[in-house]
Amino acid sequence: MGGKTDFKMPAIFIGHGSPLNALSKNDFTMALEEMGQSIPRPRAILAISAHWLTTETKITSHASPKTIHDFFGFPEELYQLYYPAPGLPELALKIAENLALNNILIRLTQDWGLDHGAWIPLRHMYPEANIPILQLSINIDQSPEFHFKMGEALKFLREQGVLIVGSGNIVHNLEKMDWKEEAHPHPWANEFENWVVEHLNKKQFSPLIFEMKKHPAAALSVPTLDHYLPLLYILGASSKEDILKLNYRKVEHSAISMLTFTFCEEGHEGPLK
Ligand code: ZN
Repeated sequence: MGGKTDFKMPAIFIGHGSPLNALSKNDFTMALEEMGQSIPRPRAILAISAHWLTTETKITSHASPKTIHDFFGFPEELYQLYYPAPGLPELALKIAENLALNNILIRLTQDWGLDHGAWIPLRHMYPEANIPILQLSINIDQSPEFHFKMGEALKFLREQGVLIVGSGNIVHNLEKMDWKEEAHPHPWANEFENWVVEHLNKKQFSPLIFEMKKHPAAALSVPTLDHYLPLLYILGASSKEDILKLNYRKVEHSAISMLTFTFCEEGHEGPLK
């Protein structure tokens, strides 16, 4: 199914932040809308979300994945939202077969759908919910290097019209959050975000994979790895020739980096539907 395209789909990282973004229209959601309109229309989307952590790697293979409302204590309106994008079981199978050639075994499952790390940002990018979406889980028992290598192994999808989306937050500390709209970023959150952006700009991925925990601001910025790991898939899926485009950047609620960026071939970052 599906052949090689004459260009590579971008690989993107989204800082998804609060579930309330599902109901909002703000600078962040408008940046997502703009991305949806400017990226060439994908044949399918493979999402790696911080909210699907497992002890093996799984991929969704349901033809109509359910919308998962995996958040608590939010307005009722949020639980009434659905994102009925289709799945693409044959692509799930093809990905599993392809990874098996690299000795990476993943399991097809129908027991997951789209969690809020996937459907909330994608709802802003593709409000019509008509592009098939698959989710790949994050095996939390594995090392950062493993996740980077998974990204490398998935890179071939970019030549087949598949948009790879990592959804997390590179700084994510719920205990140090301040819900006030005008809350200033903690200095350590800025420091860590700057450090990541600096290395993204230089395409120096090794420190981001192997030395991230050694950064002086890491203990507060990345108290747990779950929201950081989707970044490593996108680094792995990037190519030497890619250019980096920062789509959105703000430390929200003092302790959440909303950094959102695109790796893409030159000339394919603009309006090209
Ligand atoms: Zn999250």
